[in-house]
Amino acid sequence: MRLVTFAHEDRSKLGVLEGDTVLDLGAADPSLPADMVDLIASGSLDGVRAAAAGASRLARDGVRLLAPIPRPRKNIIAVGRNYRDHAKEFSASGFDASEKQMIPDHPVVFTKSPTSVVGPDEPIVLANDPTGTTDYEGEMGVVIGRAGRNIRREDALDHVFGWTVVNDVTARDLQKRHVQWFIGKSPDSFCPMGPCITTVDELPDIGESWIRTWVNGELRQEAPISALIFDVPTLIATLSEVMTLEPGDVIATGTGLGVGIGFDPPRYLQTGDVVEIAIDGIGTLRNPVH
Ligand code: MG
Repeated sequence: MRLVTFAHEDRSKLGVLEGDTVLDLGAADPSLPADMVDLIASGSLDGVRAAAAGASRLARDGVRLLAPIPRPRKNIIAVGRNYRDHAKEFSASGFDASEKQMIPDHPVVFTKSPTSVVGPDEPIVLANDPTGTTDYEGEMGVVIGRAGRNIRREDALDHVFGWTVVNDVTARDLQKRHVQWFIGKSPDSFCPMGPCITTVDELPDIGESWIRTWVNGELRQEAPISALIFDVPTLIATLSEVMTLEPGDVIATGTGLGVGIGFDPPRYLQTGDVVEIAIDGIGTLRNPVH
């Protein structure tokens, strides 16, 4: 299933995306959670399946899709330098002269503020980056389902609820001058997410999907998810060795070759640009730049 959060008649609701329509789950079964994290934490999609079977269909164009998790309860966990080609371009950009090695031995983990999340078609607001060095990073997002600590690699997928698309928008000069990446990754609107969460039962092997990013229709990034240096089981095992992963946690797994800073001179986002990121089996996340 492709689950969405959408705004309809001034309310935030949950739905199932099917082609050009959205199934209105709350109208079909008012006892279902109206919040995505509550639904994930409930541990079952049986009620959703039953409701979807009898739900009314709304035209997708007639509703406004929000981020599937409009306000995560914690920071978005994110992974840096997790594709070989991108790690090389990042290193070659001279961004971080202090880095010890191009390809990391262990996942590089940072976070983004929950207030940075916006949904499909919502603008990336350049005015929130005082340095004028706003860059895109198309990424696959893992949405945690079942809570866990010390999750073994072989059990990791049992803790995944589904997959989404994330744009890890970054203010490059903020990322650099504050040393820690948090501030450069967290301006308001710098974490577009969506259009949906595709549940793991529908897309069990995300490694078979490809991710592509376009700016104004020009293909900038293209990579198979299988090219991740640290794959999803490794990331879940590494994180859960020290912290409890909880329902609704989001892990942005890293970006591939072709970000703006990789060009000489860098090609940062400009007012009027449109960024589109697509992952097979999930959909396309589109955001204008204002
Ligand atoms: Mg990133």
